[in-house]
Amino acid sequence: MTIAHHTLEVIGTIHSPYRQKFAIPRQPGLVTAATATIELHGAYAHPDCVRGLAEFSHIWVLFLFHQTIAGGWKPLVRPPRLGGDVKKGVFASRATYRPNGIGMSVLQLKQIESDSDGTRIIVQGADLVDGTPIIDIKPYLPYSDALPMATGGYADSRPQTELTTRFSDVAQAQLAQFAPAYPQLAELIDQVLRQDPRPAYKRSDLKNKTYGMNLFDLNIKWQVIGTENHVISITKDF
Ligand code: SAM
Repeated sequence: MTIAHHTLEVIGTIHSPYRQKFAIPRQPGLVTAATATIELHGAYAHPDCVRGLAEFSHIWVLFLFHQTIAGGWKPLVRPPRLGGDVKKGVFASRATYRPNGIGMSVLQLKQIESDSDGTRIIVQGADLVDGTPIIDIKPYLPYSDALPMATGGYADSRPQTELTTRFSDVAQAQLAQFAPAYPQLAELIDQVLRQDPRPAYKRSDLKNKTYGMNLFDLNIKWQVIGTENHVISITKDF
């Protein structure tokens, strides 16, 4: 029997600090200060569904690229890793525009909570936008999934930038103001900005440009001066 179509069911939703796609790290584990919560839905929230899962340090999370899925897919994509001007096959990439729009991330499992409100899985290092629909969760198996001899083609090593982060006096005062609600905020902003979220193909023509990104309900504005991310302000204004 062959199956040409199959309907997937969403089993949960992730709540992450990333309120829009811009500035989200391009793979999991790059921004460890990002904590997110997977809220399981309906029958999938029964504690039986996660029995034994807490024994694992990491999980595979499969999800839908719901913000780009309507855009379909093309055989060739331009991986940002290659500066955006080299084309690779969609199946040689981790692009969001792909057949079926399925994403997969290995995330560190911090905690599982089950109570009368349902079941929540707390994870670290996600690269998923807030509200992403989750379609499956599986334990990460080091004996099989970690392959020290594997090679990574055009993305063989962890992306490196030389960027450092400096908070203006105003931003430092705002960090202190938001610290009770977001204790890891400075670390989160630093780790996100060190990934250099600016579009690769435009970096050279965008000197002195002020960028903005949203984390939680905060708007962060910064400029890149030389190799320094200069955080100008952190406000609740969006
Ligand atoms: N680790 C996953 C994978 O390999 O399948 C995702 C890799 S993909 C290159 C990561 C990017 O997907 C993020 O930087 C963000 O811009 C984008 N993204 C995250 N959640 C998304 C969503 N729900 N819909 C569309 N794009 C999303």
